[in-house]
Amino acid sequence: MNFCNHCGSAVEQRIPEDDNRPRHICRNASCGIIHYENPKIITGCLPIFEDKVLLCKRAIEPRYGLWTLPAGFMENEETTEQGALRESWEEAKADCSIDGLYAIYDLPHINQVYFFYRATLAPGGFGVGEESLEVKLFDEKDIPWDTLAFPVITKTLQYYFEDRKTQNFIFRNTTIAPMQRPVS
Ligand SMILES: [Zn+2]
Repeated sequence: MNFCNHCGSAVEQRIPEDDNRPRHICRNASCGIIHYENPKIITGCLPIFEDKVLLCKRAIEPRYGLWTLPAGFMENEETTEQGALRESWEEAKADCSIDGLYAIYDLPHINQVYFFYRATLAPGGFGVGEESLEVKLFDEKDIPWDTLAFPVITKTLQYYFEDRKTQNFIFRNTTIAPMQRPVS
């Protein structure tokens, strides 16, 4: 950040009084706004239809062409649940109903927090959204483990298939560490 988005003056980076980390601070004395930056929330669904999981093949970067659960950045003026349903609609035209919060992932190295909800997909209720190349229901045995887009997707699917054996879906709060991905 170079300029204050409140008054347009230059900003400087320094630690404000009574704070302990550097912030972008407006240099204009009559403005002086401190621009705090905080983690972003990503919210999405694990849509289930009978025994199958709905996955979307990404039509956008990053991870173009890899499979993901429908999820995206939360918007202002919505709840995490509404955001998850909106993203499911946008990416997979998925007509979902929420069954419960299933996992929260902290990704402190990239300042993100993910929310995933278990959701039931209505019969025939999906299509291909603009951000997807393909949208498909997968049996457990057909999950494309090698071409999943993000570690949080792998984790969520692993938790789901593990819990499904007992039908006891346990809420998880997991921290994801930076991961070395093989270059393909
Ligand atoms: Zn300013």
